[in-house]
Parts: sequence; C-alpha cells; structure tokens
Amino acid sequence: MSAKKANLSGELKKYFGFSTFKGQQEQIIENLLNGKDIFVLMPTGGGKSLCYQLPALISEGTAIVVSPLIALMKNQVDAVNGLSSDDGVAHVLNSSLNKTQTKQVFDDIKAGKTKLLYVAPESLIKEDYLEFLKEVKISFVAIDEAHCISEWGHDFRPEYRNLKSIIDKIADVPVIALTATATPKVQDDIQKTLGMINALVFKESFNRPNLYYEVCPKVNVDREIVKFINQHKGKSGIVYCLSRRKVEEFAQLLQVNGVNALPYHAGLDQKVRVANQDKFLMEEVDVIVATIAFGMGIDKPDVRFVIHYDFPKSLESYYQETGRAGRDGGEGYCLAFYDPKDIEKLEKFLAQKPVSEREIGLQLLNEVVGYAETSMSRRQYILYYFGENFDPINGDGAKMCDNASNPPKLKDATKDLEKVLNL
Ligand code: ADP
Ligand code: MG
Repeated sequence: MSAKKANLSGELKKYFGFSTFKGQQEQIIENLLNGKDIFVLMPTGGGKSLCYQLPALISEGTAIVVSPLIALMKNQVDAVNGLSSDDGVAHVLNSSLNKTQTKQVFDDIKAGKTKLLYVAPESLIKEDYLEFLKEVKISFVAIDEAHCISEWGHDFRPEYRNLKSIIDKIADVPVIALTATATPKVQDDIQKTLGMINALVFKESFNRPNLYYEVCPKVNVDREIVKFINQHKGKSGIVYCLSRRKVEEFAQLLQVNGVNALPYHAGLDQKVRVANQDKFLMEEVDVIVATIAFGMGIDKPDVRFVIHYDFPKSLESYYQETGRAGRDGGEGYCLAFYDPKDIEKLEKFLAQKPVSEREIGLQLLNEVVGYAETSMSRRQYILYYFGENFDPINGDGAKMCDNASNPPKLKDATKDLEKVLNL
C-alpha cells in the first residue's frame, strides 16, 4: 500500500506538478484503481477533475468521461493534453467532429494512446459510437456534474437519466460519479439512478469560510449595485440577473456609470459571448453581467464579488453561483437582492408548468424564501440544506454573513435595529 501511495504522489507530481493531494483525492483515486464504484461530493474548486484524470492517465485503456457541456469538455481536453508530451491523450467525441476527425479519435483509442475520452450523454447513445466503444478497452467511466441526473438538481438534463443502461452496454467497469451538489435529495437520486447504492461515498464539507453572505431588500437596486461596484473598483465580479433583457439593460447602465462591464447570456451571438467571457477571464473587463448561462466550469480564481440582482430559483443555484467568488481563498462578497414580488413572479411562471415540475419548483422556491428571510447564520442555513451541521458561533467563517457580523456593511442600520427588536 505504502509503495503505491508513494507512486501516486509521484504520478501527481509528474503529470500535474502538485506536491500534495487535496482533500480526499488520494483515497478516491486508490479506491477507483482498486475497482470500486465511487461517489464524490465536493464543492466547486475542490479538485474533482483530478480524481478521474490522474487514474485515467496511469491506467490501461481509455476512461470515458461524461460531461454535459461541450465548452467544459474542450477546456478539460486542452488542459489534459497540456499535461503530457504525447499526442491524443485526451479527446472529445461528439457530432461536431467530421469523418476524418472521428477516425483519428477512434485510431488513437485503438492504438491505446487515448487515456480520456470526453463525451456528452447524447453522443454516447449513437449506435456507431456505442459499437466502437464496446470493442475497445475501457478503464472506467467518470460521470462529471452528476447532479444533471436529478430533477432536484440545479441543472437537470434528461439525457443523463439513461446513462446507467448505456454504460452497462459498453463495459463492466468501475464508475465514478462527481458533483458539487450535495443536497440529500439529489445525492439519493443520483445513487439510485446510476445503480450506485453501494458505492463508496466521499463527501467534503461545502463550507466556504471566505465567502461573506448578505441579503438586502431590493430597493434602489441599480443605485446600490453601482455604489457597491464603485467601492470595489478594479475588482473582478459577476452580476446575475434572471432575464436576458435585464442583463443587457444593466450591463449598459453599468457602462454608462463608468464601470468596465459586459453582458453574457445564451441569446448573444456565440462569438460575442465567447469574446465577452474571454475578456473577463483575461481581466480586460472587470464585471460580467450574466444569466445563469455563465459560469459552469469557469475557473477564475480571483472573482471578488458575486451579486444577485434577482434571487435565483433555488438555494442550490445560489450556492453554485456565489461559489464562483473567492476560489483562490481570498475575499468573496456575495450580495443578493431580495423582493418577495420576484418570488411571486416565479411562482406564476411555474403555474404554467407540468405538475411534477411545478411541485419541485415551488418547494425549491420555498427554501429560497426561507434563506432570504432568515435571521440565523446564513452559512448555517446553507450548510443545513446540504445536510451538514455548522456551529454558528465557532464554526469556520461564522462571522461572515450579514446576520452574524455587526454592523452589516450595506444595510440600513435602522432596518437592522428593527429586526433585532422584533426578535
Ligand atoms: P472542481 O471540478 O471540483 O470544481 P477542479 O477539478 O476544476 O475542481 O479543480 C479546481 C482547481 O484546483 C484547479 O485549478 C486544479 O488545478 C486545482 N487542484 C486540483 N487538485 C490539486 C492539488 N492536489 N493541488 C493543488 N491544486 C489542485
Ligand atoms: Mg468540475
């Protein structure tokens, strides 16, 4: 065992240049290499990718990595290919490839060069891909962003639901599922749907002690946000709005007020979207005003604030979106504007949906309202939602929210006093 441990550290250093594993990475990798099914619940930035990349690089055969977004896959493939001096260590397999490119991927896999094959679930069901994958040596299957399987997750993808039967067709190999979503409901759903009830579960704390959580009443929201951003001039930040129109309007308003800001939403021309994102990553622009389309898989370590112009539809989304702040461990200010009327609008919208979707949506909204209106430690509230106990007095980051720190930085002091007196 110890020889193997030393060996894994050596491989970590060799491929990634890191001297130590983060959190439970080493145990996860050891168990995967020993043929166990594994379920990893780790917050964003916890280092999930390495849990399958490293074992894939040192295993015989090709690991299939199921991932929901083409952009995410491309980033990862480029990163992995940068780790090794060999060509074709990682490939993406999807419908955007032409015949020659697909043949190249297949040839590299057959030649045993390809260690990681990234596929979207909808590609995996393609008959010719399936037939091919049945014939080659697969080391294991990794399912990244596994919460996409669950309707209780924040990013449900119907294509994820059939993964289990597809994987069973391809090979009898260990499966590692990974997610940054850890509500007990989602966890349960994932394990059942993937037939992983007996998997080894590795769960890390979802506490982000360096993030400061604040919820403000949504009054003079434009002015408040401009003021906040001006107080944080030159810092990187994200402003989330629910509608594309609001994204455009508010990005303009920020520009007019001298803030170096750009919009991002799925309705923008692909080129503009990518350009805006890149400018944010390259620090040519300070603030990105975005819908939820922005952020998944984006690894900008020094985002100093995340502002919710509108409250998100679930606490899960809120946690994911605020989680993009302070990934380097430095300051991360999470400011959300809350108006019960916004929630009513969302409820009306849900009323048009099929019953099951509506019920789930309403329950998620209830939890959002509970969080927004609570006077308890926001960190404790969020962590409770993830099935974790948090000590609001001595826990790590206990002082880091409006309800715990005194005085709150942005709130009207009289309002706060009222609140205290009401208690
Ligand atoms: P997740 O998928 O959990 O959000 P990533 O896999 O994107 O996280 O990793 C987040 C960051 O942590 C990346 O920049 C990655 O290079 C870094 N990282 C991962 N493992 C280690 C390690 N053992 N030592 C140092 N940095 C690490
Ligand atoms: Mg990840």
